[in-house]
Amino acid sequence: MRKNIVAGNWKMNTTVQEGVSLAQEVNALLKDAKTNCDVVICVPFTHLTAVNAVIDQNKLGLGAENCSEHDKGAYTGEVSAQMVASTGANYVILGHSERRQYFGENNEQLATKTRKALDNNLKPIFCVGEVLEERENGTYNDVVSSQLEALFGLSAEDFGKVVIAYEPVWAIGTGKTATADQAQDMHAHIRKVIADKYGKEVADATSILYGGSCKPTNAKELFAKPDVDGGLIGGAALKADSFMGIVEAFN
Ligand code: PEP
Repeated sequence: MRKNIVAGNWKMNTTVQEGVSLAQEVNALLKDAKTNCDVVICVPFTHLTAVNAVIDQNKLGLGAENCSEHDKGAYTGEVSAQMVASTGANYVILGHSERRQYFGENNEQLATKTRKALDNNLKPIFCVGEVLEERENGTYNDVVSSQLEALFGLSAEDFGKVVIAYEPVWAIGTGKTATADQAQDMHAHIRKVIADKYGKEVADATSILYGGSCKPTNAKELFAKPDVDGGLIGGAALKADSFMGIVEAFN
């Protein structure tokens, strides 16, 4: 059956030194904890190698927050999936709403990035989600369906390696969480779209995480919903105790 996952997204926060300390803290708390989910931290490119050196990846997975759609060459400032994998990371967030909004990432690029990630044995955490206007004008299911189409060139086997994160943009970093019922409705919709494309078995095996102002105080209610398989956590992942509070929501 599908896995429960709590993944942190540190975004553009912490120096390498601060990031190593935070990773060490999370790693230490996990060492003796009994958890009922996989735990992952996705950190800036600059931090990957140093963080990998201080965590036990049997307990704490490591990921990047993006990767290039290109393999190598004259793309100044870009970081390829192969480079990410060579740090020891096993995951990569793709299609975060901030990448879509500020860097214009579209379905075509995201399809290529997903391919590159999978070719380098990175597990994509593929983000989808509507903006406030789309929530309010009722087009949110269609918006998310069309974002998922970026993945639909994948074989069923490859699709099975992808984690989906539903992150309503209006809930990211705003303190405004989707209600557990809103999250469940969208997660059920996503699972149905996947089932229509790949069949029920693949859909039932896909982990679908919720992201958007998830905190220790609301995680339990969200994660109790049948189609919510964990969370992608921004702000609350920057403090070891609040991140662990969310991990413990599965206990
Ligand atoms: C995110 O950006 O992935 C996120 C969920 O952020 P926050 O938890 O801060 O809303």
